[in-house]
Amino acid sequence: MRIDFITIFPRMFDAFLAEGVIARGIKQSRLDVRVWDLRDFATDKHRSTDDEAYGGGPGMVMLAEPVFRCVEAIGGTPRLILTSPQGRRFEQSTAKELATNEHLAFLCGRYEGFDQRVIDELQPEEISIGDFVVSGGELPAMLIADAVGRMIEGVVGNSGSVEEDSFFRGLLDYPHYTRPEELRGMRVPEILLSGHHEKIRRWRKEMALAATLAKRPDLLESAELDAEAREILNRLRATET
Ligand code: SAH
Repeated sequence: MRIDFITIFPRMFDAFLAEGVIARGIKQSRLDVRVWDLRDFATDKHRSTDDEAYGGGPGMVMLAEPVFRCVEAIGGTPRLILTSPQGRRFEQSTAKELATNEHLAFLCGRYEGFDQRVIDELQPEEISIGDFVVSGGELPAMLIADAVGRMIEGVVGNSGSVEEDSFFRGLLDYPHYTRPEELRGMRVPEILLSGHHEKIRRWRKEMALAATLAKRPDLLESAELDAEAREILNRLRATET
């Protein structure tokens, strides 16, 4: 998958692209990521990318022309995403769906956002990371790209670990433990040391259901539950009160 970021702060992406799962995906050529500096597409000698708002009021507005030029330079037919608090809310299901695309390009806003003509002309898909405002689209774009990137086959070393993450099956994750077996008087649950795979599988399923019931019961309404999960859930609910 190819991912392009359009930004006035390209250096913000350095650490994101150099470390962890995304860096690995790049090294293994499963991800092809490019960061474009909007200033390189400015039309004046000051390399301006923003200006005052028509109609007055506080806050600068990002110029449309550098964006048009940059998108033309990127070429191809990327699915264009505008990070915006006005967009549809980003969820795991959005990540899964975006991961089916060959090419994504993110427009990262700053200040009051882009000149409306960017939106009218390019018709990007507006995506929000939640009902709050951050000061730029870079963090939202990285966050979305991270969630999407790890869905790409081979980017996360063990695909089973992606499938067991929170939300993948509509439930929260079960608790994890590592060495040592006993730490400051706290023991790892015996069942995890038993080597009994079937019992461990069932315990984890129960823990995932219990965590979801306790912390995010709303998720249970749309989660796909098999007969075993429904039975566990009924039992958990019966003992709840
Ligand atoms: N005046 C704008 C907010 C601008 S914030 C408005 O009220 O809609 C500056 C930039 O940060 C935005 O252009 C967008 O790219 C990014 N941004 C801020 N909050 C965001 C959110 N919740 N989700 C995605 N992007 C966001």
